Amino acid sequence: LIVYLIYRNIAINSRLFQLQYDFINNLTHEFKTPVSVIKIAGNNIKSAEKISDQERHMYGKILDQEADKLNNLMNKLLSFTQIENKSLKFKGEYVDLNSFCEEIFEATRIKYPDLNLTSKIDVDSNIYTDPILLNSVFQNLIDNAYKYSEVSRKFVDIRVEQNKKNFVIQFSDQGIGINKHELKNIFKKFYRVKNQFNQSGSVGLGLAFCKEITEFMGGEIKVSSIEGEGTVFTLIFPR
Ligand code: ADP
Repeated sequence: LIVYLIYRNIAINSRLFQLQYDFINNLTHEFKTPVSVIKIAGNNIKSAEKISDQERHMYGKILDQEADKLNNLMNKLLSFTQIENKSLKFKGEYVDLNSFCEEIFEATRIKYPDLNLTSKIDVDSNIYTDPILLNSVFQNLIDNAYKYSEVSRKFVDIRVEQNKKNFVIQFSDQGIGINKHELKNIFKKFYRVKNQFNQSGSVGLGLAFCKEITEFMGGEIKVSSIEGEGTVFTLIFPR
């Protein structure tokens, strides 16, 4: 028994080590890309004798976007760490889903002018939630609906309903969809489906983040998808 326990311990430790190694490896890679882009943009600006308005605008946009990517990545990692060491605080308050959603939709229309966003909100009571965390889950799901859709099918429909027990929030897109064999993996950290849409700005942490945060807030996230037709993500929060 002692020998078995020692072996089992070694096996668990080496598996943990492998997981940590993979995690750090993936992470380093994800940080490296935006850092390299920032460095190149910085060097180009530094070495240019004159900069036209157009170039200034282009470099400004690149720096802004890459800084946003780093910021998002750090925020997600921070939340993961805080969930794991149980230090993430739930700053709960009663939130009117109507105005909460309207604010997000307005910001989304500015961020993605070519996204066709439709919505139906049918709730008459407030949800007790952490608005900052819920907002970040919305952002991730909307970003994905946009990112994983053909140019001519940038669409998301958001339905917010309530029944006796739950608030149900559904995000439906008409994007590329997800193969049924991949569906069970998409909530894993750093898991990415191979397709031409996730080459840049894709980290594989968005859905893992959505799942952990949703569960942290006492909810549940579900997905259904048809490849080539679209995907539906559903958030369920007890009332
Ligand atoms: P990523 O940073 O790669 O977008 P996510 O964790 O957000 O990471 O998503 C994991 C994978 O699930 C993505 O690589 C993508 O292929 C797939 N995916 C996520 N959302 C959608 C969606 N709405 N439609 C199609 N595929 C999606």
